[in-house]
Amino acid sequence: MSNTTNYIQKIQTKIHENDPHQPEFLQAVDEFLSTIAPFLEDHPEIEQNDLLSVLTEPERLLQFRVPWQDDQGNWQVNRGYRIQFNSALGPYKGGLRFHPSVNLSILKFLAFEQIFKNALTGLPIGGGKGGSDFDPKGKSDQEIMRFCQSFMLELSKYIGPNLDVPAGDIGVGGREIGYLFGMYKRLRSYDAGVLTGKPLEFWGSLTRTEATGYGVVYFVKHLLADQQKNIEGRKALVSGSGNVAIYAIEKLQELGATVISCSDSNGYIIDENGIDLSLLKEIKEVRRERLTAYVNEKASAQYFEGSLWDKEISAELAFPCATQNEIDEEAAKRLVRNGVSVVAEGANMPASLEAANYFVSNGIYYCPGKAANAGGVAVSALEMSQNAQRLQWTFAEVDARLDGIMKEIYQACYDTAVNYGQKNNFVLGANISGFEKVAKAMLRQGLV
Ligand code: GLU
Repeated sequence: MSNTTNYIQKIQTKIHENDPHQPEFLQAVDEFLSTIAPFLEDHPEIEQNDLLSVLTEPERLLQFRVPWQDDQGNWQVNRGYRIQFNSALGPYKGGLRFHPSVNLSILKFLAFEQIFKNALTGLPIGGGKGGSDFDPKGKSDQEIMRFCQSFMLELSKYIGPNLDVPAGDIGVGGREIGYLFGMYKRLRSYDAGVLTGKPLEFWGSLTRTEATGYGVVYFVKHLLADQQKNIEGRKALVSGSGNVAIYAIEKLQELGATVISCSDSNGYIIDENGIDLSLLKEIKEVRRERLTAYVNEKASAQYFEGSLWDKEISAELAFPCATQNEIDEEAAKRLVRNGVSVVAEGANMPASLEAANYFVSNGIYYCPGKAANAGGVAVSALEMSQNAQRLQWTFAEVDARLDGIMKEIYQACYDTAVNYGQKNNFVLGANISGFEKVAKAMLRQGLV
């Protein structure tokens, strides 16, 4: 066994021993470690300085109580978190997730991935993530407001435009960011750049809402263009029905694909005529209803309970845009059997380690989330630039920059994979090209 392999195994063992009860975090680190050996061989200074031990330990973990009162006057308590994982390239940057599944393991995996995703954007942002096990489902607007205010009462002590800049994620959109911003402003000062994904009325960026969904489609557009192909006329599967899924569907339709599916946590829709996007937006963004409402209003659509990825259905493109580990190895095999040649992740880590390995070893163009869904955080960084300039750029300008950034990320993944003799292994490409930037900055900043 080479020295490098030994070193990687030593780190892996240590991490598994340190946090045996954090499966999602271990999964994200294992995936990362499984690809970086060739880079370590070329860069002995990483092992010499034991940089992997430093890298895999978050700089700071915050956990706090979030007390709030429901509409009936009952006292409620949730857990709030912020993981400030790595600040080598800039202030900690990453979303807040409000979902009952949220725990330290999930947020550490998300924050760890965010380090490399943010590095890939080429913009000056470090990696962080946060959130709460609060379940926004079924809560009134007033309850959401009270929860957000209480959450920010504590979080405001630890964030700032040059320190840590949260944004949205699952369960946190413009409404929540608005309430969070209001409370931050009351407690501290009008720092527009302390949160991104803000509503446009108070210095959000145009295109931020669309950015993650558009970005994942731009990534695939550049990938196909490299092979003199395009998206037009192709059949696509999309999972999820949140912000990422909706705007991936919008861009796919604009570029001429037929998107036949979307899903929520209970089930999924198949509409062979193509998803009716204005109806979907009305249900999810305006009425805030479940997807079952779609079939009641659309004769061509069918609703099924369970996971979209359990269905035998043919398509060429797959965009998992729901949540982590939605595609297991069985589902990966099913997709490949049914003709999928490109899998692009709008969600974070939607494929299990086994599923991802299956895609890569079967010649599928598998575009991992940390590269393919970086458009959201990239436009967040552009929002920070606009806020610092006290300017608001046009939709067209931000959109063009987003497209350019996604092209560069695709190119970096591709070139790095080719460079290491593993053409089309975008997992390796994304991990090594992201890590390279972070590692170089960390080494130059010394042991901090
Ligand atoms: N939550 C998004 C992500 O997973 C965006 C984070 C941000 O804009 O800071 O990348």
